[in-house]
Amino acid sequence: MKQPIYLDNNATTPIDERVLQEMLPYFTQNFGNAASRTHVYGWIAQEATDLARERIAQLVNAHPKEIIFTSGSTESANLAIKGVYEAYSSKGNHIITCVTEHKAVLDTCKHLEKFGADVTYLPVKNDGRININVLEKNIKPSTILIAIMYANNEIGVIQPVKEIAAIARKYHLLFFCDAAQAAGKIPVDVINDDIHLLSLSAHKMYGPKGVGALYVRRKDPRIKLIAQMDGGGHENNMRSGTLNVPGIVGFGKACEICMNEMSHEAERLCALRNKLEASLVALNNVFINGSTQYRLPHVTNLSFEGATANGLISALHKIVAVSSGSACTSALSEPSYVLKALGVSDERANASLRFALGRFTTEEDITIVIEAITASIKNLRHQTIH
Ligand SMILES: *Cc1c(COP(=O)(O)O)cnc(C)c1O
Repeated sequence: MKQPIYLDNNATTPIDERVLQEMLPYFTQNFGNAASRTHVYGWIAQEATDLARERIAQLVNAHPKEIIFTSGSTESANLAIKGVYEAYSSKGNHIITCVTEHKAVLDTCKHLEKFGADVTYLPVKNDGRININVLEKNIKPSTILIAIMYANNEIGVIQPVKEIAAIARKYHLLFFCDAAQAAGKIPVDVINDDIHLLSLSAHKMYGPKGVGALYVRRKDPRIKLIAQMDGGGHENNMRSGTLNVPGIVGFGKACEICMNEMSHEAERLCALRNKLEASLVALNNVFINGSTQYRLPHVTNLSFEGATANGLISALHKIVAVSSGSACTSALSEPSYVLKALGVSDERANASLRFALGRFTTEEDITIVIEAITASIKNLRHQTIH
């Protein structure tokens, strides 16, 4: 059976063959523990993780010593937010985040509220971006951290990262930025963007699942963190546990490829995304959710009036793999909290699909998807009229 065209690259990406090839020897002959200092097995593993650390650091313009390996952005967000909250408790207990953040950030903040944290969840404008003045107005003497993402996973909208960083500087606050969707797709530069803590996931950039990193700035300012995983003191005491050497090797290779190919890829995918979007919007009563100006080049989130996301997904499931804007946590699909935050009605939120193109998306794929969705929409709308 032919597999459907994959346009759900914000959920996860397939591993690049070049990444896989680089990983394979680290499952077999090079199986050493990177913390073993007494023999060549350990040395080879450590050399490999050192190279990966350099490549990952390079992608975001960090120093290799500022990269802490984790299992992905969920763990990185937990380490950043909980680690800062505990390390800076004498300064204050107030954290500012945003309603459209990923659950990894929102649920970590919710958890800390049970232990005395004061959390402000900033609203967003209709375009999905925060208002910088509203951010500034919400700062209190007890504020220690701003946690705002680089780009949103559901709508691809890019937050005003530099402006947020400037506010953090002005009030001597720390700035954690979840870059799971942005890194490797658009330029992310922790110096130029002035970010203090940044999370990354390999599987969102054609690397393996279950590996990621937290960038922790070492100077101007030097960030203190309380470890959330205790043990052998790996990763500079910030994250204990034997390193996932093959995963880290793959993550490093994935970063190197993104670094080399990002600008070309962004241009290619932007043209395909625009073609898809324009063709679907031409069906009438199809609306783009979120800013079209500040947006990842490979993402579009569309609401199809007169249809439902579930109806479209089931009608199209043999042709295209997409996801609805809504997080289907149960049989009853709740409308997406991200779209709701933009002021999108329940009906429109339940009629939205997220298209996330990727490295292996071709022009032919897009042509097929446009044809299939056009036919489906006409069919579904026809049914509702009669
Ligand atoms: C995928 C994602 C995460 C979680 O990453 P994991 O690697 O699954 O832990 C966090 N934030 C954003 C924005 C994401 O897209």
